[in-house]
Amino acid sequence: MFQKRFILLLKTHKNVFQQRNLSADVGFIGIGNMGVRMANNLVKKGRKLKVYDVSKAAAQSVTGAHVCSTPEEAATDVDLVITMLPEGATVKKVLTADDGILKGINKNSLLIDSSTIDPLDAQELHKITKEAGIKFLDTPVSGGVIGAEAGTLTFMVGGDEGVAKKVEPYLMQMGGRIMHCGGPGAGQIAKLCNNLILGISMIGIAEGMNLGAKMGLDLNTLNNVINTSTGRCWSSDTCNPVPGIMPNVPASNNYDGGFQTKLIAKDLALAQNVAVSCGAPILLGSAAHQIFRTMAAYGYANKDFSAVYKFLQGQN
Ligand code: NAD
Repeated sequence: MFQKRFILLLKTHKNVFQQRNLSADVGFIGIGNMGVRMANNLVKKGRKLKVYDVSKAAAQSVTGAHVCSTPEEAATDVDLVITMLPEGATVKKVLTADDGILKGINKNSLLIDSSTIDPLDAQELHKITKEAGIKFLDTPVSGGVIGAEAGTLTFMVGGDEGVAKKVEPYLMQMGGRIMHCGGPGAGQIAKLCNNLILGISMIGIAEGMNLGAKMGLDLNTLNNVINTSTGRCWSSDTCNPVPGIMPNVPASNNYDGGFQTKLIAKDLALAQNVAVSCGAPILLGSAAHQIFRTMAAYGYANKDFSAVYKFLQGQN
């Protein structure tokens, strides 16, 4: 009898917990490869989180967070809302939909978007949020899933410096460096410049390693040479594209779980648009864009972009 009553009490309590609009420190929207690691770091540092993702399974992967059914719910009664989504159109939808962020967010809450999106889209988000009376920053990140996991991301911030100061304590719980790049959209412009270089350098390392392999070199030795020579870069010393050279990188995990080829292709398309708009030539950037687009069309869309090594080897 007592046991039955206790179970009933627990069930009632659970329903109340699910229905109530809980307050939390952060509402995190977009729990993908990056988002899950960033959100987990916030939880580890003692923040209370509400999370939302179109994939419920993804949202449930954040330890100890309250899973929400809409972006509106995730944005209600929190100090900071963070979006980490694939592209600008999705961020805008999540912001402005009938059950979107703007429906739930308090006027004194802060909102940041850490996705990589078109700087023009970012500027539009600044305008929409300003009209709604919400303080907003573009805060794209660099460091990949490895940096997200380690909590060492670099945040590139665009927008008001005073707002950036307020957000800093949260950013430093997910990253190691905050760079204020300028006004609205400046963070995104810096991010695109960085990813233009990243896309080119990953292809460069993959080409060099593939050439060495075809000529019969030991690839561990070749990589040691590169990492103590002038070819060294993030793609050689942190996220090497050759399986087995480094543990815990996508190349050693069947190219799963990193920075998907379709996302670097998206970033290079955005860089292309920006370059055309200002007349800057990006010869290698354009070639890199076409290489990643071709890879995506040949079955690599969801694989980490370091799979360009496998692509060059001509194996599927
Ligand atoms: P991902 O595809 O792994 O994650 C995106 C998440 O957003 C997914 O869980 C998806 O279900 C969710 N989502 C999609 N539409 C949604 C919607 N309408 N509402 C709520 N959730 C939705 O991507 P990722 O690798 O985590 O990258 C996220 C962003 O960060 C991208 O803009 C990417 O370019 C950028 N980025 C990625 C890396 C990296 O190494 N992966 C590094 C720096 C920046």
